[in-house]
Amino acid sequence: MRIGILALQGAVREHRVMLRRLGVDAADVLNTEDLCGIDGLILPGGESTAIGKLLARYALLEPIAELGRRGLPIFGTCAGLILLAKHINGSEQPRFGLMDAWVERNAFGRQLASFEADMPVPALGGEPFRIICIRAPYIDRVGAGAVPLLSYEGKILFAEQGSLLAASFHPELTGDTRIHEYFISRVAGRVSAAAGHG
Ligand code: GLN
Repeated sequence: MRIGILALQGAVREHRVMLRRLGVDAADVLNTEDLCGIDGLILPGGESTAIGKLLARYALLEPIAELGRRGLPIFGTCAGLILLAKHINGSEQPRFGLMDAWVERNAFGRQLASFEADMPVPALGGEPFRIICIRAPYIDRVGAGAVPLLSYEGKILFAEQGSLLAASFHPELTGDTRIHEYFISRVAGRVSAAAGHG
């Protein structure tokens, strides 16, 4: 199994370290050739407008959106969540537009935009997860296709839609591998389904 990490800007290294710790082959994605042979893709945190401009410049926007539409598992953290969403409140910035979600950017206000807290995430089992938000977006509401996995004060911080997973926080900055494992299990399911049909 090989998982690509969009490596145009942002917290790329931390995801790479996490994947390698979990024994997964991690490949930086910088151009369309890098998309060949990946079984899943991580969109790291960073600055979504900067990443969007680079995606357009390197002609990666449409190829990645098409792979997502065809079922490639994609996991977006923070800016990555913004790029996955169909709707960004008040913004026309470039995005993949795959997840049925309405996103607010930098939405926690200046003081609260960055915070850390331990929160239980039912999909991950009993132990709370360390939620690290850095100038974080949140999901305001989701359409019928998407399922919230964690909400805080009415704001959705973690959600999935089919093979898409989106977190407004940074699991790669914790030592906790559960969310990456959750994503990897989705990727593994798709790899074995494809092998079964092949
Ligand atoms: N505020 C950033 C944006 O709008 C996201 C911050 C992050 O990825 N840590 O793109």
